[in-house]
Amino acid sequence: MLPDKTFEGRTGIITGGATGIGFAIAREVARLGGRVVIASRKEEKLVPAVEQIRSETGRADAAHFHVLDVRDANAVEEMAAKIDTDFGGIDFLVNNAAGNFIVAAEELSVNGWNSVIGIVLNGTFYCSSAIGKRMIAKKNGGVMLNVIANYAWTGGPGVVHSASAKAGVLALTRTLATEWARYKIRCNAIAPGPVDTPGAAERLFPDPMIMEGIRKTIPARRFANLEEIAHAATYLLSDYSSYVTGENFVIDGGQWLSGSDYFTRLKQMMPKQ
Ligand code: NAP
Repeated sequence: MLPDKTFEGRTGIITGGATGIGFAIAREVARLGGRVVIASRKEEKLVPAVEQIRSETGRADAAHFHVLDVRDANAVEEMAAKIDTDFGGIDFLVNNAAGNFIVAAEELSVNGWNSVIGIVLNGTFYCSSAIGKRMIAKKNGGVMLNVIANYAWTGGPGVVHSASAKAGVLALTRTLATEWARYKIRCNAIAPGPVDTPGAAERLFPDPMIMEGIRKTIPARRFANLEEIAHAATYLLSDYSSYVTGENFVIDGGQWLSGSDYFTRLKQMMPKQ
């Protein structure tokens, strides 16, 4: 666990930060003294999330929100300009927003494909570009963290849209790491395996039988908890990882290494199987 004031004086944006993994990262950064701006589409989720972080930290300035659809490049640019001006700079960005659902590749519509690619791959680029340019101009460096998934480099049945988008984000992470190291901007990824968030449960493992099947594909025989993801994320956002860039930190209890079993389970989740 990191020391209490690890993020004191730092401000960052977390997309999709009102729920699940994004919220867990936001809470932990705020607990460690940072200021977070959580950004997603639904104000009704953002407001209580900000209130909870302010109440837990006792700091009114610990959390703010910005209503944003990351697929809208102009809106992303406006958000980056506003937060940069309002808070005197942006120190870190977490690209966490995503959409996903299980579907056989031959049944995936163009709209479904474009929606997931639009949120995950395009949204990550729009945010990284808008905020990266400002970090470069300020000459104070910065940190970017992209939340991918442990099928980004293996692929997997039922997630052709998400796996393709996350693979693109992994390539983006490594590319920006090499291009922007000269500006003291670090870019890393975390790749969780299954985490029991309400969003993932609804879309990816809606049934206890499926959850149990997935659990058996994980050598650790359990899903990750949110604190485990948040601890890895805050390490990579902090100065304790100051020489780490272009890295993909896998947090999956060994799941991807047990590959063929995982794919068997994923196949069972697909509608046609
Ligand atoms: P989640 O709670 O459903 O989080 C997704 C977030 O993305 C929501 O807060 C949502 O907020 C936001 N979002 C969706 N579309 C958006 C858009 N167009 N613009 C802005 N924000 C948008 O699910 P989660 O499980 O915590 O997932 C978080 C991240 O972890 C994702 O990148 C996911 O791929 C990754 N991950 C999750 C698991 C898992 O098992 N849970 C495993 C591997 C990787 P709004 O509805 O307010 O827009």
